[in-house]
Amino acid sequence: MCFSRPSRIWIRRYAFMGHGRCVGVRLAGGNPRSDFPRPSDQWYVSFLVEDGRSTPPAHPGPAVGIDRGIKVAVTTSDGHFYDRTFLTSGEAKRCRRSQQRLARAESGSERRKRAKNALMIVMRRVRARRTDFNAQTAHVLTLGYGTIVLEDLRVRRMTASAKGDLDRPGTRVAQKSGLNRAVLDKSWYGLELALISAARYSGTHIVKVPAAYTSQKCSACGNVDPAARESQARYRCTSCHTVMRADVNAAINIKNAAGLAVSGRGDFGSAQSVKRQPPLPSTGLNSSSTTRGILVP
Ligand SMILES: [Zn+2]
Repeated sequence: MCFSRPSRIWIRRYAFMGHGRCVGVRLAGGNPRSDFPRPSDQWYVSFLVEDGRSTPPAHPGPAVGIDRGIKVAVTTSDGHFYDRTFLTSGEAKRCRRSQQRLARAESGSERRKRAKNALMIVMRRVRARRTDFNAQTAHVLTLGYGTIVLEDLRVRRMTASAKGDLDRPGTRVAQKSGLNRAVLDKSWYGLELALISAARYSGTHIVKVPAAYTSQKCSACGNVDPAARESQARYRCTSCHTVMRADVNAAINIKNAAGLAVSGRGDFGSAQSVKRQPPLPSTGLNSSSTTRGILVP
């Protein structure tokens, strides 16, 4: 929970909210004008609440592999995608301008404070969108699948900053700045956290696998060849000549790495069958903000 002016009355009121169900109150803060990592004009209170819900027995749904990418945020091994624009072009422009101002401003000056605030307002908005996107995506995925396989982020994270641009170049220009890349990185981890959190309510099993070669390996024949990565988007196997979307190929490899073979229905090649995709549950997902659907190979 976040509010703009910290007050003892508010804290006391929320501490007693829910007739004693609230078991812990923590005020995350400090001097709003000091180097507080959160936006300087807002304060946050977090509550630990016992919701009385227990994790249901294992989810009977199918397994899925998930590739977290730069161009498309989330791609599943059965060819579904989930994406959202987190930073608009106007915000990117404002961000760059604020960063320039921040670099030029004298430390401790009023000008610097203004530039810092302007930057934080944009960052807060972007962060809110990512949190929202992660929560919605995690909700839909955990409802539909019994097992979700992810890349182990520690490996992924190491390659993300250095390799990301070479591997998948020219995706979104604004994302090439270190700040945006850091935010992007957080989103990948944020999705993982959101999935683990959502899985508690659905009984979905979350599995993490090593990320090595998931983008170079052919999911059809197992051939590993960096040259098979024809472009950012396409994978063309140099051995069996399978052509498919690179992110779907990676997602299938991620799924396979957990020891789960792709089902016989998995015709992800050039003749992808839409009918055979496991149906996604319908939710109250706002389609105007989050893009999702089936990838056209
Ligand atoms: Zn192959």
